[in-house]
Amino acid sequence: MATCTHLAQIAVLQLPESVAGCEDCLRIDGVWLHLRICLACGHVGCCDNSPNRHATAHYHDSDHALIRSLEPEEEWSWCYVDEVAMVIPDIRGQTRIPPSPMLTG
Ligand SMILES: [Zn+2]
Ligand SMILES: [Zn+2]
Ligand SMILES: [Zn+2]
Repeated sequence: MATCTHLAQIAVLQLPESVAGCEDCLRIDGVWLHLRICLACGHVGCCDNSPNRHATAHYHDSDHALIRSLEPEEEWSWCYVDEVAMVIPDIRGQTRIPPSPMLTG
């Protein structure tokens, strides 16, 4: 079984109460489908089904390997480097997110 060797990068153990959306999309007036948070720095980006794929772009820009889903009812994390999904039980909280602008358009 593949394992992740990047758990030491995790600095975000408490999820934010709420976020306004993908921070990069908000800057460029873009739209997103699902939200992901970087567990190293707290950057909020959008998933690969979003037009701008800002979560993946952030990984390429920063080498921050781990993201966690911010979607309600989802608690999985993903390591881009090891390409492995996992649940990290140390991460607490539930983030309120706005509805996807792609779905409410
Ligand atoms: Zn990893
Ligand atoms: Zn985005
Ligand atoms: Zn980051």
